[in-house]
Amino acid sequence: MKLGGHIAEGLRPLVDLVYPPRCPICGEGVAQQGGLCTPCWSTLAIPGEPACVSCGRPFASDHLGKAAQCAPCMVHPPKHDGISVGTLYNDASRKLVLAFKHGGKIGLAPMMAKLIAARLPQRVEGEGLPLIIPVPLHRWRLWRRGYNQAALLAQELAKLGAGELMVDGIVRTMQTPPLGGLGRKQREKTLAGAIAIRPSREGKIKNRAIVLVDDVLTSGATSDACVTAVKKAGAQSVRVACFARVLDEALPDSSQLAALDQAEMVGKYETPEVPLEPRAPRDEIKRTHFEKLE
Ligand SMILES: [Zn+2]
Ligand SMILES: [Zn+2]
Repeated sequence: MKLGGHIAEGLRPLVDLVYPPRCPICGEGVAQQGGLCTPCWSTLAIPGEPACVSCGRPFASDHLGKAAQCAPCMVHPPKHDGISVGTLYNDASRKLVLAFKHGGKIGLAPMMAKLIAARLPQRVEGEGLPLIIPVPLHRWRLWRRGYNQAALLAQELAKLGAGELMVDGIVRTMQTPPLGGLGRKQREKTLAGAIAIRPSREGKIKNRAIVLVDDVLTSGATSDACVTAVKKAGAQSVRVACFARVLDEALPDSSQLAALDQAEMVGKYETPEVPLEPRAPRDEIKRTHFEKLE
């Protein structure tokens, strides 16, 4: 890994020459690859205080006491033990997420991870390192996109000292249909069967504090399914850490949230999920190919 790092460092001037660093939000020239220009920094919405004690949802005013819970948390007590959010989802963070997730701009990961790390609680002296586990992608989507954006963020968080990386602790055992049109219970049911703990990792998850990492948090249905799975495996606590959190009140109506969920599940710029036929072994492809030629 060290060697790779040196090579990357060595190549940086060359990379900068061929691809001058540009702000991923507005396209202005910037000093460093993966950085934002100063005006764009100020457009990111960093969640502030006062906020819900359970989920960190910012309150509009501070007349609510210190230990107040937001209405959604009161109605459905969260399964997780806290959320750490780098930014609130707005036009600026949306552009970053799209570039990172669907535009192949993986160089944004360190900057995005730093924003998340800044929101993680201070580690208590003598406490063990938490395990950092990304929300998984189904292998077909992984194969198509080439990377799991949540795993890249998890890797960077581990580099920043936030915990120990376990990249494959949770697996998606099947493809899930778009969740946009489904009700809460229906989503839970659909996801519960699709997310599981890798059996060989169960022993390591037991009694550990977990940081579950994702790029965007929308309805929380996917992260809830992951939280349930790691808790079932005996995790001591689970904190959800994400780069951008969608707060429903930031969107004009809930149909937009549903559309966003759909975009998250299907991938806005990807072809919609279609069940793929198992690929024929190479010989078979060759044979039919030649048969056709003959
Ligand atoms: Zn900019
Ligand atoms: Zn809350």
